[in-house]
Amino acid sequence: MTQPPNRLYLLYHELRPSRSDYSYVVETSQFEKHVDLFLKLRNEKTSAFYPEITFDDGHISNFEFALPILQSHAIKAWFFITVGWTGQKSGYMGWPELRALQEAGQLIGAHGWSHTLLTHCDQPQLQKELLEARLILEDKLGTSITAMSLPGGRSNQRILTACREAGYTQIFTSVAKAEPQPAGPTVGRLNIRGDMTLEWLTKLLEPESGVLSGLQRQHQIKAAAKTLLGDRLYEKLWALLNRHEPATDAREAAAYEDPAHH
Ligand SMILES: [Zn+2]
Repeated sequence: MTQPPNRLYLLYHELRPSRSDYSYVVETSQFEKHVDLFLKLRNEKTSAFYPEITFDDGHISNFEFALPILQSHAIKAWFFITVGWTGQKSGYMGWPELRALQEAGQLIGAHGWSHTLLTHCDQPQLQKELLEARLILEDKLGTSITAMSLPGGRSNQRILTACREAGYTQIFTSVAKAEPQPAGPTVGRLNIRGDMTLEWLTKLLEPESGVLSGLQRQHQIKAAAKTLLGDRLYEKLWALLNRHEPATDAREAAAYEDPAHH
């Protein structure tokens, strides 16, 4: 008997039909190639990983471009929604789009209320970001919501406890790691950037490619750099390296300037 392959959860944000230098954007045609690759690997008995797709933030492109590709390939993904942006913020999905995702059998989780980093929240703010966000999603979608992804990937023991107390049984992070099945209470994810090539992704998913352990090392180096440089300097450096788009909308820029989202 061979062991079932570990899951590798991949994290997407926004799709666009044309190429973008912005690292959170993946070209729609590339995404479709990723889906083809994931399905091929899911069907091969010798695969190192069973890839899973997740989206954070609730961008409108998730509905417009990702959903048709997922449906035509009969594949399910997780969509983690910034609940306070739903139907409120331009460029993000409203309740009709979320209901359409749900009716299509896609999986919905929460991504906080306002996308504030949870580590910056006091207890009343956590109540809003975690419990109220979950109850409103449940009320509007008529289903139970038990999964959430951490805005900016930021957490600590206080946050993980608050998530559990607010009724979440699965917490999705932004640190790539292979997940045995069934997954534990925290689920690691690999952030997919627009500049990651299909070749790189194919290699990552090969048995013993070593890319994943390299990424885990990189994460440790980043964490060390953050401690050394302090959060502010690290964030400036990160924004510079990731070629942020000039901010057209200050709120949007604030939402995305989120260095641990990688
Ligand atoms: Zn986010």
